[in-house]
Amino acid sequence: MRAAVLKGPGLLVLDDLPDPECPKGGALIRIKACSICGTDVKMLEAGHRDLAYPRVLGHEMAGIIVEIDGNSTTQEGDLAQVWPGIACGQCRQCRRGDDHRCQEIGILGFSRDGGLAQMLALPPQSLERGLNLLPRELDPSLAALAEPLACCLNGQERSQVSEGDSVLILGGGPIGCLHALLAEMRGAERIIVAERLDSRIQAIRDNTSAQVLQVKESLPLQKALASEIDVPEVDVILTATPEAEISRALVRLLSPGGRLCVFSGPRPENHMQLMDLKPIHYRELTLTGAYGCSSRHNREALSLLGSGAIDADWIITLRASLSEIHDAFAYSGQRRGLKSVICM
Ligand SMILES: [Zn+2]
Ligand SMILES: [Zn+2]
Repeated sequence: MRAAVLKGPGLLVLDDLPDPECPKGGALIRIKACSICGTDVKMLEAGHRDLAYPRVLGHEMAGIIVEIDGNSTTQEGDLAQVWPGIACGQCRQCRRGDDHRCQEIGILGFSRDGGLAQMLALPPQSLERGLNLLPRELDPSLAALAEPLACCLNGQERSQVSEGDSVLILGGGPIGCLHALLAEMRGAERIIVAERLDSRIQAIRDNTSAQVLQVKESLPLQKALASEIDVPEVDVILTATPEAEISRALVRLLSPGGRLCVFSGPRPENHMQLMDLKPIHYRELTLTGAYGCSSRHNREALSLLGSGAIDADWIITLRASLSEIHDAFAYSGQRRGLKSVICM
């Protein structure tokens, strides 16, 4: 089979690998669509904590089940979307439904081969919680967005985005756009997306109810918010770009009871920010983080896409073939459009 293999830092190779066999108790999937995530680009450029080389990348995928060895609600011939977590199902975190925090978690496309290949071997642990039947008529490339949407759902649950909230999203890439759609669905009253690029700003204006704040070097975010949007403070801040700097000035934008969610992994130079604990105490602020999504988040996200409650089709701005993998990575890495999806 053809597969996009990351062999080392900066070395992504389109390779011919032997077709995988159906794992005992697992399943074999013929991939139909796998979208490229900011994390894939980060892995190519700089590696990742949970990555082991060589690795077939891809953790946002959907395909046809060609073989299944065990009990599942899905069957051979079904179109399914795959939750990339491989969780034990036994540990304390798994038992209480937080299977993305499993003590022994593996992740397809990180620690096991993922979906940027013609075939995917799904381990037995994934049969029960990792295989999700596609809602009827849902395009597999759209179903591939269930995983990133599920990660946003996790982030918005962690930061309790709810009715009447004002929400500031830092970054208007594919993740920022999904956050905006989701916050709207959850009843947020005011949604502001801070973004630099004109093309992305236009897409957000055309497709969401969010206000857009154009980020400029010359004008600090705090000043821009006050002068251009007339919002002195917000209830929730979500970081949707690794460039977001979590500073005291950013924390000062939170209204009493406000929540800050470190959603995007910050750049190393932004890892160690000193916190001022005073506003956390006096203004009852919450600082939280989100990494990945549970299998429940994944199922919910897929049904939001299937029902049309979240219309994310406009976020896919490039559909490419596996042989165009390098172009698709460049497209995502250079932020030319929004989301790129490899279709097979
Ligand atoms: Zn991702
Ligand atoms: Zn577990």
